[in-house]
Amino acid sequence: MAPYRAQTRLLQHLVEQYELPGDKVETATVHRFQGNEKDMVIFDLVDGPPFKIGKLLTGTPVSEATRILNVACTRAKGKLVIVAHHDYLSQRASTDDSLTTLLQHLEQHGKLIDARTVVQDYADPAVITALDAVIPVPRQLGNPEGATHFNEGNFYPAFLRDLQDAAGEVVIFSPFIAERRLAEVITYLRRLVDRGVPVIVVTREPQEPSRVTDKLIQQLSAKGVNVLRRGGLHEKLAFVDRKIAWFGSLNILSQSRSSELMIRLSQPELVEKLMEFSGTVYLLRKTQEESGRQSRLVKLSESLKKLMAFPPCPQCSRPTEIRTGKYGPFWGCTSYQDAKCKGLVNIPRRVLELAVQNLELACPDCGGKVILKSGRKGVFLGCSRYPDCRRTDSL
Ligand SMILES: [Zn+2]
Ligand SMILES: [Zn+2]
Repeated sequence: MAPYRAQTRLLQHLVEQYELPGDKVETATVHRFQGNEKDMVIFDLVDGPPFKIGKLLTGTPVSEATRILNVACTRAKGKLVIVAHHDYLSQRASTDDSLTTLLQHLEQHGKLIDARTVVQDYADPAVITALDAVIPVPRQLGNPEGATHFNEGNFYPAFLRDLQDAAGEVVIFSPFIAERRLAEVITYLRRLVDRGVPVIVVTREPQEPSRVTDKLIQQLSAKGVNVLRRGGLHEKLAFVDRKIAWFGSLNILSQSRSSELMIRLSQPELVEKLMEFSGTVYLLRKTQEESGRQSRLVKLSESLKKLMAFPPCPQCSRPTEIRTGKYGPFWGCTSYQDAKCKGLVNIPRRVLELAVQNLELACPDCGGKVILKSGRKGVFLGCSRYPDCRRTDSL
């Protein structure tokens, strides 16, 4: 039993979701319950922060609230359980209404149980699914086309649905990451990566080194998510396929109990503007360049191996591998990471030229042949149709 119709609708969905027997469990508003009796009644007072207490439960006696509370508390034959945000309800200014009388009576004659010992998780996925069923159509914002707004209760079902449909790429700006929330979202992110959809997470560089954050970031990286850290990051944003933008106050990878507001935009010009403002356009270009560079380097390494054996490290005699630096690729010691050996051998220009030539790369801009060039900043890839085509890529 609850004072509000919306709450009983949500409860009804939960009853159906958990397949509770309909002949034993009934949900109803207090109004509808008048004249009825049950062995046990659970009365949910519903109201809690950040909202004001609803009309149904305020007012001095004898008010509508008096009548509601009276009906609710007298329908149980065996046991009455009252669900309430105790601190919130008892810390009100008004003390002469029926609700206060009821709470005082319960404190003296009832048994107080901490809700956290009964329900562990505020963000119960079942509640989120039920909410989604109760509020199927997101409310439209006044004017802008394709803008809908969400709160912490209905954000995740809608956002996760967008993730499921993503085909291009997903970028999430979440200043914080928390274990519990990540556990819920990470399955969706992994599914995306498995489908070949790049996922980028931008999160705040903690001011103090944090082992917890490091561990969670490792979890994400292990699933193939590209995690970038930024000092002072405070924006909460997400972009899906450059078509949908989420924008507001909610930390997507850490939200747990706070009240939030998120706006979903699907209007192309707005999404594009937000992507520019937030630096996401630049970020995507950079990560694309970086992954292009990585794959070119892998191919170059294979091409070089066909031409000659890699020399050993001049400092420790361990094998070398292809790495790249400011001035282009070189043979670097394989124990660079573990033993910090900085031994390296330059690749002879002729060999590098031949290795690039054997790759038969086509210019992404004009389709022309790609050749090795060198300039002040070392070697790079350039189009053979220069100066008609000015395309260059770093190695
Ligand atoms: Zn070495
Ligand atoms: Zn070209």
